[in-house]
Amino acid sequence: MRLRILLFIPFFLLLTAWGFFGHRTINNTAIYALPEPLIHFYKAHANYLTEHSVDADKRRHMVEEEPVRHYLDADYYEQALPLDTIPHYWNQAIQCFSEDTIKAYGIGPWHLEKQVYFLQKAFSEKDIARILKLSADVGHYTADLHVPLHTSLNYNGQLTNQVGIHAFWESRLPELFAEDYSFFVGKAEYIPNINKAIWTAFEASVAARDSVLRFEKQLDSTFKGEKYAFEDRGKGLVKTYSKAYSKAYHEMLSGQVERRMQAAIKLLADLWYTAWVNAGSPDLGEAPKLAPPDSSELVSPKLGDHD
Ligand SMILES: [Zn+2]
Repeated sequence: MRLRILLFIPFFLLLTAWGFFGHRTINNTAIYALPEPLIHFYKAHANYLTEHSVDADKRRHMVEEEPVRHYLDADYYEQALPLDTIPHYWNQAIQCFSEDTIKAYGIGPWHLEKQVYFLQKAFSEKDIARILKLSADVGHYTADLHVPLHTSLNYNGQLTNQVGIHAFWESRLPELFAEDYSFFVGKAEYIPNINKAIWTAFEASVAARDSVLRFEKQLDSTFKGEKYAFEDRGKGLVKTYSKAYSKAYHEMLSGQVERRMQAAIKLLADLWYTAWVNAGSPDLGEAPKLAPPDSSELVSPKLGDHD
């Protein structure tokens, strides 16, 4: 039995950022925060937006530029500078540091902002296929921006002997406890300054990062029960954090995962809405019908760790 168990890859290495569950939930739930009339368009395409919420992670293994779009290792810069000195505008950032450096440590916030402008353009052109693709991707990158470990060189606890913490926080905890979360975030609001809203969200993730790592470290040294368990996931047994250990960690975080998910949902609804308003609030009822989805974009996920 032991041998058989060891043949399986640990569960936490198979997951995408926020897990499929988290990304699907964030994209889907944000739809219901939209005002009239935009909500009708998004509701009509809710399945697409949910199903394609993890396309950006699937592309990480096909598109060379993709991986760095999902994070920004703020602590690389923080070694030398206060966080708020990272230039928020791309052109300034690549002057301040080289483009190679910027790309080496992740471009998450800058890339998200660019996608929101592309979404605005797609709305202006009433290009339904582009609107949907970009809306799904904006959802993905917005969700990733809210994950504290997407701001760190120590993204999987590999520098502090906490390997696996990445998916523990963003996948295992929501999967176990999200049924008790509230996803009511109020109505989407217009964002006067998209760049500022994105960087504010990013800075909140940075602020949450230290407790993500420190609490797990504390728990690891004090927890009396079994830290890991083997669960049947339908493909054989996989190693994961035990329910008791997960519950104890979740309680130490006192609602942090729920708050980051709620913030992601709210910002996503705000970004979709703002892109549409900035495009002149087009009537999408007159837009041409959606072309069938491009099946070449659908590949089975093979996920690495820094997603
Ligand atoms: Zn991602």
